[in-house]
Amino acid sequence: MNAKIRIDKPSDQEVIVFRRSPIHGLGGFASQRIEKEVRMIEYLGEKINKSESLRRCEANNEFIFRLNETEDLDGNVAWNPARWINHSCAPNCEAELDDDRIWIVALRNIEPNEEITFNYGYDLEDYQQYPCWCGSPQCVGFIVAEEFFEHLRQQRPYQWPADKYGQTP
Ligand SMILES: [Zn+2]
Repeated sequence: MNAKIRIDKPSDQEVIVFRRSPIHGLGGFASQRIEKEVRMIEYLGEKINKSESLRRCEANNEFIFRLNETEDLDGNVAWNPARWINHSCAPNCEAELDDDRIWIVALRNIEPNEEITFNYGYDLEDYQQYPCWCGSPQCVGFIVAEEFFEHLRQQRPYQWPADKYGQTP
């Protein structure tokens, strides 16, 4: 983890509202202008041990974050509205781990009504099951961590979802 100074959200007011998203299902949207590095919302969940985490991952739970050596966090709970925030290949936020808590933090200044996104950081396992609809020009077509973007761009064109954007990378 890098040691940036953390800025808490401007007030008690919620800075994210949740409504229908053009990317997928519900999404989170900025309710006001947000400064870079502001913590938008905490990604809440149930703390579980590694064996329970493995069991839930194998049951295709897509909301599990690594917390530390012994525990993970399952964000697939009703009290975690941040689970609705969509993935993007060109996100305006990132998930940051700080003292076993996960925050969605602005990577840049965000304008009111912009959809809030972060990179889900998925690995390449079964990546074709997770198409990305983020619509950004940099979209690699699937939900994967940024470190795998180059790998996907080198895949054969038929794997690229050209139908979506009418173009190849
Ligand atoms: Zn994308």
